[in-house]
Amino acid sequence: MTVVEQAADLLQKAKKVVFFTGAGISADSGIPTYREKLSGVWAGLDPRDLETARAFRENPSLVWGWYLWRRLRVAQAEPNAAHLAIPRMAHSLRQVSVITQNIDDFHERAGSSNVLHLHGSLAMPKCFACHRPAVVSPDQSAVPEDGALIEPPRCQRCNGRMRPAVVWYGEDLPPSSWKAAILLVKNCDLMVSVGTSGIVMPAAGLPDLALASGASVIHVNKADVAMGDQKELMLIGVAAEILPMLLEKISDGG
Ligand code: NAD
Repeated sequence: MTVVEQAADLLQKAKKVVFFTGAGISADSGIPTYREKLSGVWAGLDPRDLETARAFRENPSLVWGWYLWRRLRVAQAEPNAAHLAIPRMAHSLRQVSVITQNIDDFHERAGSSNVLHLHGSLAMPKCFACHRPAVVSPDQSAVPEDGALIEPPRCQRCNGRMRPAVVWYGEDLPPSSWKAAILLVKNCDLMVSVGTSGIVMPAAGLPDLALASGASVIHVNKADVAMGDQKELMLIGVAAEILPMLLEKISDGG
């Protein structure tokens, strides 16, 4: 059996499958991972330096502008074949769940329900001061050109600055999503980890947890990211080609 056939066989037999996704799954929708160079006022900056509470405190309009620009790019793009294949792998005998590190909404737009966003979402901002979500979503349609500085809107309750409701470096993951993710992973029999480098902790520990709980793990990535466990399979290639190929194989197999 080829590795793809072995992966299809695992999928075919699995009753509870968790897809664990990272920036690489959205790369084929035109949303860059953090390896690409930025331009405009962000040129020379590492996104990791923009995504901290300290960066927001020091330069709120730079950070708000960065997220507005990212939001625009996502709104103008479409889910790709990898996002679309995932809900189609669900079957009356196969439960499919999604845990994502991404802050875009491509999984939802592709038809996946109950998506757990470990790092928050671009959609709805919250207040930097009182932490409460926006009462109404502030107008985020006035989107900057590449590199513009935009002053964040104010909280309608306390007049603090609004910030995106994403998890910045140094912040905790939303406890309810994290708890739910751990439960799903401990109870799955197969994890398919797609387009994630496995660096950003604690999310990056989920494939290890799946293996420790007795599940198999299939990695789909342009690079070899396997950890050397016997219950791992590594499918090297782009997600938008590999996931539809797996879907086709399991659909052929009934
Ligand atoms: P990462 O940028 O560290 O790694 C991306 C991984 O995807 C790499 O291993 C790369 O080899 C792989 N990859 C790239 N293109 C691919 C493709 N077409 N098909 C398959 N694999 C591909 O991303 P990460 O592991 O998700 O962690 C970085 C953090 O960046 C996360 O917290 C995430 O929230 C954030 N991020 C999110 C988005 C988004 O929401 N779309 C975009 C950029 C970064």
